[in-house]
Amino acid sequence: MDSGSYGEKPIRVLLIDRDRGEYALIGQLLDAIGHGAYELTWCWQAEHAIDAIFSDLHDVVLLDYQGNHGSGPAILAKAVQMGASVPIIVMTAELDRNVDREAIRSGASDYLLKGRIDSQILERTLRYAIERKSAEARLARLAHYDALTNVPNRILFRDRLGRALERARRSQQTVALFFIDLDGFKQVNDTLGHEAGDELIRTVAERLSHCMRKSDSVARIGGDEFTVILEDVATTSDIVNVARKAIDVVSRPVTLGAQQVFVGASIGIAVYPEAGDTVDALLKHADMAMYQAKNLRGSAYRFYTEKMNVEAMNQMYLEADLRRALRRGEFELYYQPRIALDDERIAGVEALLRWNHPVRGVVSPADFIPLAEEVGLIVPLGYWVIHRACEDMRTLDARGVDPIHIAVNLSFKQFADEKFAQTVRNIIEAAGVDARRLEFELTETAIMANAEDTERCMHTIRELGPTFSLDDFGTGYSSFAHIQRLPIGALKIDRSFVKNLPQTQDDATIVKAMISLAHNLGLQVIAEGAETAEQVRFLREHDCDQAQGYFFSRPVTFTDLLQQVQPEALVDEPGACAGLSLA
Ligand code: C2E
Ligand code: MG
Ligand code: MG
Repeated sequence: MDSGSYGEKPIRVLLIDRDRGEYALIGQLLDAIGHGAYELTWCWQAEHAIDAIFSDLHDVVLLDYQGNHGSGPAILAKAVQMGASVPIIVMTAELDRNVDREAIRSGASDYLLKGRIDSQILERTLRYAIERKSAEARLARLAHYDALTNVPNRILFRDRLGRALERARRSQQTVALFFIDLDGFKQVNDTLGHEAGDELIRTVAERLSHCMRKSDSVARIGGDEFTVILEDVATTSDIVNVARKAIDVVSRPVTLGAQQVFVGASIGIAVYPEAGDTVDALLKHADMAMYQAKNLRGSAYRFYTEKMNVEAMNQMYLEADLRRALRRGEFELYYQPRIALDDERIAGVEALLRWNHPVRGVVSPADFIPLAEEVGLIVPLGYWVIHRACEDMRTLDARGVDPIHIAVNLSFKQFADEKFAQTVRNIIEAAGVDARRLEFELTETAIMANAEDTERCMHTIRELGPTFSLDDFGTGYSSFAHIQRLPIGALKIDRSFVKNLPQTQDDATIVKAMISLAHNLGLQVIAEGAETAEQVRFLREHDCDQAQGYFFSRPVTFTDLLQQVQPEALVDEPGACAGLSLA
């Protein structure tokens, strides 16, 4: 509370006292000081005292110390222990030095003698207590926050890192510490003066704080040195992404008066537990890594542990590689047939992405989809997949193949693009294919992530024609109530349940239950990963609608698919998958 506002807002006083007479008296005294200058709230039940003190509705508390059936000292102790920010003034019944001293020692701001309180004494005591408390708060802030930038200083930083390490130890999580040193700060300071230097530091602190998550703590620990604590980071690439973002925001031009200046950031990273398990060890190692980053070229990050540098490097190469692959057309769609179990016809195909890497050969999606999702490349890559699938559908139509469904896998990150539905529509229209034969496969995790947005987007797309199926069913978490609200037409039982059919009793029971559950919801059921004749027999006997797996066909190139589905091609090509026919 700052004293300047007394004139405008009334001072809110909380009285904790069982005695109604005391309430009336204090009320009169406050009124006498000046009508409307004070607002009195009365709390007569000791059990509500703590709630009232922490309610944030009062500027100062008057606490009956000896009354309240002797609960005064306990209330005071509890409030102080919980770090109450309002000053508490105790009221004692008689002149007893010991009681007064004890109360002050326990954290009371001041004391008043009941029966000897007049307006003047009351007013002075209240104001004094409030002013002293706010001065204390200012001091505490000074001690813990950097005056120039208002971010935590070295003391608070060390305290926070210590606590973060304790939490990480208990929950076995990682903590990453960034040591950030600006590149080129000295020149700015030397040529433009200290004021410009200060302004630059303020700007950097603000930008850094802005680009971090709420839970990440930015501190200034020296002239142009900052630290960031990242708690609960899952992967090296998560950390790398934050480091890059930090370098990016610091490197943007800063306007100082009429000048525009550029500085960079060198970041050293030490990760608990690999790079140390104490505040001092981590700080020292992050500092050492920062020097290495500086020696590299500036505006770079460096991990203290070599293993993480290698991981970060590999990720960078892979990312650059992925971007190049998309430009050069190194991606290809393979297709795996889905077989209708009642008559063994091909009911549809699933498009599965492959990367024809010039050096590594054919790379499977599990090895690059997660990274593409992380760096945002999944959005353009996903559009390419939909586009390719639609073009291939058109080719099938042109060859006179009986119409089949093409299923395309979607990552939930693709919904992050607000133009998703519109773009899908454009792609379908450009290809001129029947949108109802396009199907999107989504996992349970995908439909549960950002559930409301996803639901909305799914409905919009459903109206365009494409259908949805739930992929890898049984591996994630989703509620049937939720599934029922979504425009989903089919469940795909994950291959982990199919693998041990029919021998493993548990899996057999689960699969049977999944099939009947899906049918009760009016959904089709497709089993993934059917590899043996027994599995297929089991699935057919239990009314599974379709199956997909190596038993029928591995994923094949589009050229090979054409041979599988075109009857005349089967005649020409003895190598083509025999035994499959179109209805
Ligand atoms: P998914 O959608 O569940 O695809 C089925 C995976 O199981 C495919 O792996 C397929 O080759 C494999 N599979 C099929 N039948 C059998 C079988 O009988 N036995 C065994 N052991 N495996 C079988 P693939 O092609 O490596 O794809 C892996 C995952 O990558 C896919 O799982 C899908 O989640 C993702 N993916 C593939 N293409 C795309 C895409 O274009 N976009 C997105 N976002 N994800 C994709
Ligand atoms: Mg799939
Ligand atoms: Mg699957």
